[in-house]
Amino acid sequence: MSGISKILIANRGEIALRVLRACKELGIQTVAVHSTADADAMHVRLADESVCIGPPPSRDSYLNIHQIVAACEITGADAVHPGYGFLSENAKFADILDAHGITFIGPTAEHIRLMGDKITAKKTAVELGIPVVPGSAGEVLPENALEIAREIGFPVLIKATAGGGGRGMKVAKTEEELEEAVSTARSEALAAFGNDAVYMEKYLGKPRHIEVQVVGDGAGNAIHLGERDCSLQRRHQKVWEEANSPALNVEQRMKIGSICAEAMKKMKYRGAGTIEFLYENGEFYFIEMNTRLQVEHPITEAITGIDLVHEQIRVASGAGLSVTQDEIVFSGHAIECRINAEDPRTFVPSPGTITHFHAPGGLGVRVDSGAYAGYKIPPYYDSLIGKLIVHGRTRVECMMRLRRVLDEFVVDGIKTTLPLFQDLVSNQDIANGEYDIHWLEKYLAETSAK
Ligand code: ADP
Repeated sequence: MSGISKILIANRGEIALRVLRACKELGIQTVAVHSTADADAMHVRLADESVCIGPPPSRDSYLNIHQIVAACEITGADAVHPGYGFLSENAKFADILDAHGITFIGPTAEHIRLMGDKITAKKTAVELGIPVVPGSAGEVLPENALEIAREIGFPVLIKATAGGGGRGMKVAKTEEELEEAVSTARSEALAAFGNDAVYMEKYLGKPRHIEVQVVGDGAGNAIHLGERDCSLQRRHQKVWEEANSPALNVEQRMKIGSICAEAMKKMKYRGAGTIEFLYENGEFYFIEMNTRLQVEHPITEAITGIDLVHEQIRVASGAGLSVTQDEIVFSGHAIECRINAEDPRTFVPSPGTITHFHAPGGLGVRVDSGAYAGYKIPPYYDSLIGKLIVHGRTRVECMMRLRRVLDEFVVDGIKTTLPLFQDLVSNQDIANGEYDIHWLEKYLAETSAK
């Protein structure tokens, strides 16, 4: 592939391994970086070269731009894949790599900035013809909050413009609750993001979270790869994702998909991206765009057969997309379960040593994980230890397969969220595909009360 011969993977865990696999397939050399806590990690073992970039805390290692650029220079890496999280949506990092003549496998710094600020992102979405949640035109201040909320109509949601991970978000059901919601959201946003700017949206009561996968070549060509339904969430964190959404039919899928692809063409977007919507009563409402690969991207790969990391590398190197929209065929149904090293009831992290590890197999089964027997999960990073992705010709077949596969999966020595998925796969609402973004929290509250 033109231009890129050695990629430094600026990440850890399952996603570092995922990117590494794509590089190997494309005949591209790989450089792993790691903190001292990750010296024995699988992504380090499998990479062609590795560089230790610092002590365990992320800010001193995986977020340390200076060390990562130095690692590129030492190894002669000509491109960086940032994975998700860490530096993947850091525009300054993209700028610095550019200044060093190193290719950032992602969008332009300008597009990262545009979508990173949620008020600007929403304005851009409106300009691009993407439907948005009704809300304030810009920043909301304590003095204009009431007037804006009355216009939108209660209940309203106050959100941080620098937001992420559901932080700095507060609901006000009534006028009485508004003042406190605005001030708590502002102080939470300041503490989490160093920026207290907030905006306001209509609070939707029972939406689903549906997101569209796009990829652009940076020259005005873009495709969509359908949607993912990520409504099963706990504290705004996705737990179980599926493609296609049980709530959409083919016409709805192709309609929202082409709105998104057209918007990306207009922007001349480069790279993979996800446009997130809330969906209620047949309407889509844009909430944000993530300018990177997402954790749940494998379910899209399962139903399209397209390797999204290959596409990311292709467009970053200027080789263009490998497929046109007409060539994309959606086939069957896929579900992803995020396996966290956590107590399945309390969700308290459970780091430690994995004593036994057996990943399931068979037709339609994919496990993306850097875990193995004897692996010691460090306590410093997020608790995702693996992802189980199951594909079937229909949703029913996919669920049947998932039930079998969950019984086969063995992770001993630590607690994991696997038992939660065994419960969910046997649940009638899930079987019917009838759930919204509040379903899982209600279910967890009810089952823990028993
Ligand atoms: P973050 O970047 O912090 O994750 P998002 O804007 O993506 O913030 O929203 C995260 C989640 O919060 C959504 O998936 C949804 O569950 C909920 N949410 C966001 N906006 C609204 C809204 N207007 N009404 C109801 N729920 C919302």
